Amino acid sequence: MCGVMGMYSGGTDVFPDVINGLFQMQHRGQDACGIALADGKRIRLHRGLGYVRDVFRNRPAPEFSGHIACGHVRYPTQGSNRLDNAQPHLVTTLSGPMLALGSNGDLTNYWEIRRFLEAEGIDFWGTNDGELLLKYIAFHHIRKGLPLLDAIRRMQADVKGAYSACLIARDKLYAIRDPYAIRPLAIGAGGGNWVVASETNALDICHVDLVDEVAPGEVVEFSRDGMRRLPHPDVQSLRANGRTTPAHCVFEHVYFSRPDSIVFGERSYDVRKRFGAWLAEHDDVQGDVVVPVPDSSNAVALGYAQASALPFEFGLVRNHYIGRTFISPGQAGRDDGVKLKFNPLRSVFKNKRVILVDDSIVRGTTSRKLVRMVRGAGAKEVHLRIGSPITQYSCYYGVDTPTREELIGSRLSTEMIRHHLTADSLMYMSLEGLRECVGGGANFCMACFDGNYPIPITEAKAWEGDDGRAVG
Ligand code: SF4
Repeated sequence: MCGVMGMYSGGTDVFPDVINGLFQMQHRGQDACGIALADGKRIRLHRGLGYVRDVFRNRPAPEFSGHIACGHVRYPTQGSNRLDNAQPHLVTTLSGPMLALGSNGDLTNYWEIRRFLEAEGIDFWGTNDGELLLKYIAFHHIRKGLPLLDAIRRMQADVKGAYSACLIARDKLYAIRDPYAIRPLAIGAGGGNWVVASETNALDICHVDLVDEVAPGEVVEFSRDGMRRLPHPDVQSLRANGRTTPAHCVFEHVYFSRPDSIVFGERSYDVRKRFGAWLAEHDDVQGDVVVPVPDSSNAVALGYAQASALPFEFGLVRNHYIGRTFISPGQAGRDDGVKLKFNPLRSVFKNKRVILVDDSIVRGTTSRKLVRMVRGAGAKEVHLRIGSPITQYSCYYGVDTPTREELIGSRLSTEMIRHHLTADSLMYMSLEGLRECVGGGANFCMACFDGNYPIPITEAKAWEGDDGRAVG
């Protein structure tokens, strides 16, 4: 998972706004970040490993400015923490940098397309999906002479997987989305500026209003003439398995997106509260207090507390100065991180029957430590409630979930998981409940819960590479 952002202004320098927008989306990736800036004549690029606040502490150079931008924050994937994989990427010709692209997502036929390009003599710097998208478009546009839009359409026809991308080409900005619209990509406008971003909190900080989302398979062009929408003429032809609907990633609502963002037409805060209410309405355990595992479970726990009329307390105090446990690279980092990250408030837990609410269970490592922490803080009973169904399958569309073998939900029954976590009881949302809470679920991918992958996963080679996998 990453965050991508594009901005087009009538003429003012957009660097400060893009910094703010990326900072708002820092939770989507903490590994690396970068900005490509264009002034209509040339494109300049600056990337670095680490947080936005560190990489862009200062303007990289006095001339690093422009009214068109593509920015990116990159999600850490194990072993791939290299600057070559940081986005955006740039294609340069003899006349200078021509195209820049940043993308959020993962491709499922990465190696097939890469081998094709390598056979055409095109070199790769890393194993990043954004680089592949850019070079495939550039190959057809620059080498083969196709008009840019035709080159993008060719990419959409041949490259499979999830991508929400921003592309700078000369004096224009393009937003491009895969035919399933798996990752979010919102459009905002205001004050003569256009902004596209993975999350609407990036629009808010740039003082633009949400206009719409980029539609599945759509290309949106921003220029001095304003916005031009170019719907795909036959998006259905790009989808597999006869699927007629988008396949938005439901995990965006479960965990990734910030609750203040409007994602796939709904504020994640509201959706998460519905998850919590569903859990409460289907629960029969007696509790004294509802406590979230902050921060992604706060709204779920609030929804539970309101629906059950139980007190809501922040019993676990989170240290915000370490990264999100789920996206810390490496198991060692995860194990050490739990105690560093949370400290229990004993007065909240002492002699209480605690309803502890979390968004999901992946490996079970964090949950087990948290249950013990809460019990150690004096809880009489710990009842774990999960605001999503059992995570049983890996994601191939932009989320660095572990292999199936590492997912505790794919190996053990719910009762065995409860026993392993040492909880007094354990309850997940059902798949039906999740569907109910997101309007029926027809427009969503839920493959990590039900194994029903909207894009066929036929090629193990999508996960090859010098570091074990292609990275997005
Ligand atoms: Fe999202 Fe899960 Fe589908 Fe991946 S498999 S896109 S995490 S719902």
